[in-house]
Amino acid sequence: MRRVAVLFILGFFWPALAFGQGYMARLLHHPVPGGVAVVPLGAGDAAPRAFLGKDRVMVLRDSDGQWIAVVGIDLKTGTGRQALRVEGGTQGDRSFQVGGKQYKSQHITLKNKSQVNPDPEQVRRYEREYKEQIDAYRRFRDAGPSNVSLDRPVNGRLSSPFGLRRFFNGQERNPHSGLDFAVPAGTPVKAPADGVVTIVADYFFNGKTVFIDHGQGFITMYCHLSAFQVHEGQPVRRGDVIGKVGATGRATGPHLHWNVSLNNARVDPAIFINAFQP
Ligand code: ZN
Repeated sequence: MRRVAVLFILGFFWPALAFGQGYMARLLHHPVPGGVAVVPLGAGDAAPRAFLGKDRVMVLRDSDGQWIAVVGIDLKTGTGRQALRVEGGTQGDRSFQVGGKQYKSQHITLKNKSQVNPDPEQVRRYEREYKEQIDAYRRFRDAGPSNVSLDRPVNGRLSSPFGLRRFFNGQERNPHSGLDFAVPAGTPVKAPADGVVTIVADYFFNGKTVFIDHGQGFITMYCHLSAFQVHEGQPVRRGDVIGKVGATGRATGPHLHWNVSLNNARVDPAIFINAFQP
């Protein structure tokens, strides 16, 4: 009877051990521009520290006991090998391979011309707001996230996907840095994991915006909100309502725009809700 139990347990865990992959690696490893690379760092006692360029990278212990670096890959990254600097690990520096991904294009007509070609004062405002947001994306707290498999912040149809190449009135602008949910104005937006609110602000392009820092450089952003239900510095728990869906800023109608960032790289939020399309 005992032998059967041991065999059953081995059978259950063997695939994970054999391929060196725990639960988080299987969920998150999509190494393409705008995706995530999970890099095994060995199984020592203390957490190693990992860096991609200057940016510190999230390191967690996976379900198979290994330390893993969970690396956000910026959309502008080319295909090929990327170096990961590792301090305090048992295996030294590592590298990972970035594959290719084709993203679709979309053409959008905006009646408000100033949101296509902002005037100089609006450009200065935007640059100030952009810097504030990059500073928030660069925050790194040692505490790890409560969960990396995230809850959907709203229940609704996924509309514009991450990475979409966008042309506003015929002019190409930045690709879509997040994932849109088509939901009515007023829908409550919920924190998908525990964290600390780092920005509550009304921005030129993003409208009413909330940032949540989940720890280890894992940051989420919610924009075009109609109302806030949190303030800066407030700790939030998974499931807490942080605001309501709206159409503030550069939005053609009510929807939730959701960004997920790792090591200051915006990555496809669909990965974290198990909805990634290769
Ligand atoms: Zn969007």
